[in-house]
Amino acid sequence: MYKCYLKKVLEWLLGNKDNPFEYTHHAILLVGTVLYIYAAIANYYLELAGIYSIYFQLVLALLIFVIWYLSRWRNQFKKMRIAFITIIILVSIPANWIGNGGSNGPTYFVDLGLLIYISVSFKDLGIYRRLGQFFCIIIPIPLILFEKEYPDIIFQYATETQKQIDLTITFIIIGLFLIVMMESLSTRFKLERNKAEQLSKKLRNLSEKDSLTGLYNRRILDKQYSLWKTQDRIFSLALLDLDHFKKQNDQWGHNYGDDILRTFSSLLKDVAINNKGFAIRLGGEEFVLLLPLSAEDSYQIISQAAETFSKTPLIHGPVTFSAGVAQSTPNDNQGELLKRADNLMYQAKNKGRNCICK
Ligand code: GH3
Ligand code: MG
Ligand code: MG
Repeated sequence: MYKCYLKKVLEWLLGNKDNPFEYTHHAILLVGTVLYIYAAIANYYLELAGIYSIYFQLVLALLIFVIWYLSRWRNQFKKMRIAFITIIILVSIPANWIGNGGSNGPTYFVDLGLLIYISVSFKDLGIYRRLGQFFCIIIPIPLILFEKEYPDIIFQYATETQKQIDLTITFIIIGLFLIVMMESLSTRFKLERNKAEQLSKKLRNLSEKDSLTGLYNRRILDKQYSLWKTQDRIFSLALLDLDHFKKQNDQWGHNYGDDILRTFSSLLKDVAINNKGFAIRLGGEEFVLLLPLSAEDSYQIISQAAETFSKTPLIHGPVTFSAGVAQSTPNDNQGELLKRADNLMYQAKNKGRNCICK
């Protein structure tokens, strides 16, 4: 209940979690707003910064909040990301430098955090990302020159302890910020890896399976034949061909023909699964069963399948098939095995069809 409520609030504030780019960026904007308000209050009470710097931090907090609003609720995600880094690099970093002890203060930490943020999260922003990285790296140089020229403008800590407190607090905040960012990066990485895995599975399916029947295609015949051959296994190849299929097509239409092919394929698939073999559509109405069994055992199983198929209800009556079953021998290759099964299948056709030869 509490978790559900929290999830809803976070989704309202940050957007959809499946889009970790936006989700994290919105989190950073809101945390940034809170941090600037917190920094202004802490600076005021601990006297860690000048009063103008404190006003400035409040204005920045408001500005970052507006950026969050436009990004989250006005569909300006991309523009607002650019606006955010521009403001942080060109306004916030110099202001921090001037208001928080210059080169003695914690601005280096903030700048480094920002550099890592831009490098990790702005991969899609091309030139803006490069510009952001460039400015993050060079910005300390003009700031140091400015500090040398106008040392009185830079707010200096009254005591060494104040400086240590400010450095430590900022270090902890930037450290936490980096942890959040790395978490988001790994979430994004996981999401993208899952997507890639799904896609490669789909592609493998497309390249190995026949779209009409869902059976394997010839690729798997080649692959599995080679594997079993190198393993020296006993196996048989059965070539199956529907009888007078052209007539069915001509008489009842191509769609009905497709229905027969699907029904027959589903039977072959069951036979293959039950016997740890493979059902393959070679093309048209020609199929292969590759079974890890002797020719005799394969013959028995295919005879049972023939009986089942003859009883399978098809709208325009039963359809039969003829088959040739050949067992692999140590000296033959795939072409020769297929040829023997093909010859046996033609024998079966010549015997009047609805017949299996071995
Ligand atoms: P036989 O008993 O000698 O095997 O005769 P058959 O009519 O089954 O064989 P034939 O080779 O003369 O005809 C095969 C037919 O299969 C011709 C072709 O139109 C049809 N065919 C091939 N692929 C498909 C398909 O994907 N869908 C449908 N519906 N028909 C197909
Ligand atoms: Mg046929
Ligand atoms: Mg044929």
